[in-house]
Amino acid sequence: QKGSDGKYTVTLIPGDGIGPEISESVKAIYSAANVPISWEEVSVTPILKGGKTVIPDVAIQSVRKNTVALKGPLATPSQYPDIRLTRAQTDNGDAVGKGHISLNLTLRRTFNLFANVRPCASIKGFKTPYDDVNTVLIRENTEGEYSGIEHEVVDGVVQSIKLITWEASERVARYAFHHAQASGRKRVTAVHKANIMKMSDGMFLSACRQVAKDFPGITYDEDLLDRVCLQITQNPLPYADRVMVMPNLYGDILSDMCAGLIGGLGLTPSGNIGRDASIFEAVHGSAPDIAGKGLANPTALLLSSLMMLRHMNLNDYASKIEKAALTTIAEGKTITGDLGGKSSTKEYTAAIIEKLGKA
Ligand code: ATP
Ligand code: MG
Repeated sequence: QKGSDGKYTVTLIPGDGIGPEISESVKAIYSAANVPISWEEVSVTPILKGGKTVIPDVAIQSVRKNTVALKGPLATPSQYPDIRLTRAQTDNGDAVGKGHISLNLTLRRTFNLFANVRPCASIKGFKTPYDDVNTVLIRENTEGEYSGIEHEVVDGVVQSIKLITWEASERVARYAFHHAQASGRKRVTAVHKANIMKMSDGMFLSACRQVAKDFPGITYDEDLLDRVCLQITQNPLPYADRVMVMPNLYGDILSDMCAGLIGGLGLTPSGNIGRDASIFEAVHGSAPDIAGKGLANPTALLLSSLMMLRHMNLNDYASKIEKAALTTIAEGKTITGDLGGKSSTKEYTAAIIEKLGKA
């Protein structure tokens, strides 16, 4: 929604680790490009409420009101409990899994962010093993292997439940077809392991097939996850014509593989599309190893913000900034360490801003 100043208010969640540094960079580029956006900055650092850690209400309210947000990485404790040890310590064993629930998951659930869109395109002039990667992957974002339902059956036996619902499968499939249509891609490929997970992935496929009937202009097919990995790494070009759609975990893994093909996590954006809001974020994490050193590559967050601008129909601003960033990378003089350069986040940002001035 446009405010009285002619600007759109967007929630900005700078995040943890390198989050504040890369957010600064995006803000600087946006003000240099005169993008009509005013940022409403909120923190999602969990607070204690009624004995539980929750995301502060102001953050939730801000995203709910603005319906669009740009988000830096949030650190999720990556330690998992040693289940035998924990049980020994607590006598009833139910301490396991009661810890910190992932903030990313909380945001996804709060705003029904059902589809995660992850494009990966080779950057012209930036040398990687392939120069023709152009994949778009849509990951189911709410269930599957991420249902969070795990328990110990008996000593030494743990069960983790992969939950697939018709509703969520149909919803993400429909979004994939819409996305294909809107972006001029002629094919949707459902990626699966229904040969092994016959019922769960099987139903995911049934939902995709049913939705496909509503889109006669788009070819629909299916392929096994392992085969897709093999084929993309041998020749990514055939995948440039389509949108791939898949259950949660497969999308997590396959998108990192595609990111590797174009130069790594510093370059890959994503958008979480939801019923109540859409949140755009880099695929990478908080990179604690380089946080605070001014070395982070802000490109992934910047490209995520450009997906956001296009989502808001601010296409001209998006194209202008994209061109400035991609030429800066292609020239290779002022790029960050992860891309093989020597420049700081600030120097790279300044180089992009200089290009904007010349455009
Ligand atoms: P988290 O737990 O938040 O996911 P992590 O330790 O898994 O953190 P990632 O952020 O996923 O770290 O990054 C993995 C590796 O890639 C790290 O070595 C990190 O420094 C590097 N990396 C990730 N993002 C960037 C970036 N934007 N610029 C430069 N290097 C990055
Ligand atoms: Mg990580």
